[in-house]
Amino acid sequence: MIIVTRPSITDDELDRIRERVESLGLRTHVSRGENRTIIGCIGDEGRLENLPLLGMPGVEAVHPVMRPYKLASREFSASRTRIPLADVELGGPAVAIIAGPCSVEGEEMVLRTARAVREAGAHAFRGGAFKPRTSPYSFQGMESEGLEILSRARAESGLPIVTEVMDTRQIEKVAGHADILQIGARNMQNFALLTEVGRVHRPVLLKRGMSATVKDLLLAAEYVMKQGNMKVILCERGIRTFETATRNTFDVAAIPVLKKETHLPVIADPSHAGGIRDLVAPLSFAAVAAGADGLMVEVHPNPEEALSDGDQSLDFDQFRSLMKDLKRFAEAAGRTLGTGHED
Ligand code: PEP
Ligand code: MN
Repeated sequence: MIIVTRPSITDDELDRIRERVESLGLRTHVSRGENRTIIGCIGDEGRLENLPLLGMPGVEAVHPVMRPYKLASREFSASRTRIPLADVELGGPAVAIIAGPCSVEGEEMVLRTARAVREAGAHAFRGGAFKPRTSPYSFQGMESEGLEILSRARAESGLPIVTEVMDTRQIEKVAGHADILQIGARNMQNFALLTEVGRVHRPVLLKRGMSATVKDLLLAAEYVMKQGNMKVILCERGIRTFETATRNTFDVAAIPVLKKETHLPVIADPSHAGGIRDLVAPLSFAAVAAGADGLMVEVHPNPEEALSDGDQSLDFDQFRSLMKDLKRFAEAAGRTLGTGHED
């Protein structure tokens, strides 16, 4: 950690800062410039975490040298984390595609959609049985019955299942049916939930909170990893800004930033980012160009009748056409789509 002092700092103030830091077992190194004196703190930076240095007389700024997220940071692992899905590895050379409806609405629509997305080349099936809706009057999902339907979809299609868990009390039940546990944007900082999914042996798909920074997202992943579950997938799904032309603002830059900061796989959700069907393809292409390891796309047999997120859902033809067009973008980005159709 580097402490930048004020130009007016007195020798007494400087001594007091050094004493506080050294009392925690670190060494200090003072470097006197023409206008400023800087204190370098050498040793375990973590010990300074709770020290209110900025409030000490004579301190102007404090710059940590280490990343606050340790397990998630790029330095922690020599190789990138890979998570197996149907015939590809998320985080490997192929761009992995997770597709399915926003909500499980019934058995027939789920099985039809699973079949359609698998045939179009998807590697995993998504669908919410427990839905985090902004309004308590909106459809809340089919809950346990929805989970049973998802299990049948896996048995029939062979695709791994991604579904959301919203509450610590649901984890055991959801994990009994899901291959990947989704933590939604609204729960990204539900620390009790993050801690509990960290104790489960299931990969976690962690969606970025609507007003979360990249650092907040990585620290949320750290909560899961700290419990021993190192299989976390990060998902950029748009953030809330002053812009109202789109449902959220797709932060495409977060993708290369995350890829630089962490060894974890990074995917994008163009459906929730744009909120409109027509934006799904361009945002998918942008995500792949920016280095995303995968995409999660909402697909519905009849979007006009969807119980949630119909405006942003693709129908089967639109999804097939997206997959076809994506292939070229993936190749231009030095990846494949790993659909089996091209291998
Ligand atoms: C979803 O994936 O359907 C969902 C609710 O996403 P988010 O948590 O990103 O809003
Ligand atoms: Mn949705």
